[in-house]
Amino acid sequence: MENIVYTYGNKVYLNITNACPCDCDFCVRHNTDGLGDMGSLWLEHEPSYEEIIKAIDGFNWENVTDAVFCGFGEPTCALEKLLKTARHLKETKNVKIRLNTNGLSDLINKKEETAKDMAGLIDSVSVSLNASDADKYEAIVHPSFGKKAFDAMIKFTKDCKKYIPSVKMTVVDTIGREEIEKCKALCNENSIDLRVRTYIK
Ligand code: SF4
Repeated sequence: MENIVYTYGNKVYLNITNACPCDCDFCVRHNTDGLGDMGSLWLEHEPSYEEIIKAIDGFNWENVTDAVFCGFGEPTCALEKLLKTARHLKETKNVKIRLNTNGLSDLINKKEETAKDMAGLIDSVSVSLNASDADKYEAIVHPSFGKKAFDAMIKFTKDCKKYIPSVKMTVVDTIGREEIEKCKALCNENSIDLRVRTYIK
C-alpha cells in the first residue's frame, strides 16, 4: 500500500495527492522523498476516494487523536476527495482533523469561498503565509496563478475564520527577522495567529 496514511511524530497524516500549483523554494520535496523513517511520499498515481478509505480503514487508529491532511502535494487539489474523506473520518474515527494548505483552494478549484465547504468537517487549518506581500510571495512560492495568488490566499484564510474553529498561518524561520515581523503585523491586522516554524531540511 502506498503511503496515503503515514505517521510523523505523534500525528497521523493523510497524503491524498501529489498535485500542487506552486514550487516553493523551501518545499520539502526538493530535498527528500519522504519524512522521518517512512518510505517515499510520491504516489504512483492519484489515489481514488475508495483507495484513500481502504488505506484509512486498514490503519490502526487506537490512541490517535489527530489526523492531518498534509502530504507531498496540496490537499485542496483533491478537494472533493478531501471533504468526503474528512466526513468518513468524522463518522468512523474519533479524531480532530487539521488541514495544512497553501491557501489557494479557491483558485485551484475555480470556486468562491471553498472554506465554506469545510464547515463541520475540518477542525483546524494551517495556511502557509510565507511572505508579507504579493511580490515576495510570488518570488518564494512561484504560484502558477501569478501575483493574484497572495490576495486569494489571504481571503481564503479570512473565510476559514468564519467556518473553521481554529485558523493559523505559518512562515518558515529562514525568511529573516524583519520579514517575520511584517508577517506578524499582517496576521495581527486580520486577527490570525502566526506560527514561525522551523525549516525542514
Ligand atoms: S505549496 Fe506545499 S507542496 Fe506545494 S510547493 Fe509549496 S511547500 Fe511544496
